[in-house]
Amino acid sequence: MPKIQRMPAAECLECGNPRPLMGSCAHCGSTDSPRPLTDTLTLNLESGGPTAEEALERLTQHVRAASEAGIRALIVIHGYGSSGSGGKIKWVVRDALENNYFSDRVDEYYFGEDLAFGSSSYQTVVKRRSSLKPHLSQFKIGNAGMTVLLMH
Ligand SMILES: [Zn+2]
Repeated sequence: MPKIQRMPAAECLECGNPRPLMGSCAHCGSTDSPRPLTDTLTLNLESGGPTAEEALERLTQHVRAASEAGIRALIVIHGYGSSGSGGKIKWVVRDALENNYFSDRVDEYYFGEDLAFGSSSYQTVVKRRSSLKPHLSQFKIGNAGMTVLLMH
């Protein structure tokens, strides 16, 4: 299971209890979109060691759920694209983005290696989504293991 499903990323609009962004409320069973407790989520596609295809499916589900819940930015951790089956995840994710797979829900995307602290892409991103600043300001030379999605 992806990391964000284990943390109370949102609260239920029906009963007010914390619940994950995806799936139903454990307290009342509501399947309506919950209210997010943050506007920025981190999704680790590497956790659990999925295949590239499974990781893409996981991303697709989370993009949809995040969009429906009103999340403004998604930080996708996909690794550095090294050899081995896990190394394919980065390329599958970037392929999907470049082929406009998520264009109905994703406004813009930025590759982590282009988001070095203080760079022009960094400036643009934190201007548009200030909540990303604490997540990105630590990367002096960028981070090729992630991609940042700005949601519509
Ligand atoms: Zn509930």
